[in-house]
Amino acid sequence: MALRSVIRINEELCNGCGACIAPCAEGALAIVDGKARVVKEELCDGAGFCLGVCPLGAVILEIREAPDFSEAAVLEQQAGQVKTYIPQQCSFCHNSEDEAYILPVKHRGESRWVCTSCLPRLIHG
Ligand code: SF4
Repeated sequence: MALRSVIRINEELCNGCGACIAPCAEGALAIVDGKARVVKEELCDGAGFCLGVCPLGAVILEIREAPDFSEAAVLEQQAGQVKTYIPQQCSFCHNSEDEAYILPVKHRGESRWVCTSCLPRLIHG
């Protein structure tokens, strides 16, 4: 156990749309009984790329006591996982990754997806 960043899902806000599942490369999230849930806390690295895609603000990062992040648990999870493809969108122009290259970026605790067209504007203002 360690004090670290881990996501928390507000089940009252979550509508089970599933948009947050694909951005999590570690496979830490799944829809269970119509709600997004953290499968195992050791799968969550706290990167937070699930936050920016939730249309309802149901996902937050919080600092709390949680099991250490485990690469071994991630590999085990990924081996048995059926990948669902839900295209991500640029947080600024809303271009889909089907139309543009989209990169994950972090700034002052926020996680966003940005396409290569909007990246210069993000960097230079
Ligand atoms: S994106 Fe938000 S509303 Fe959709 S399943 Fe994930 S937590 Fe729930």
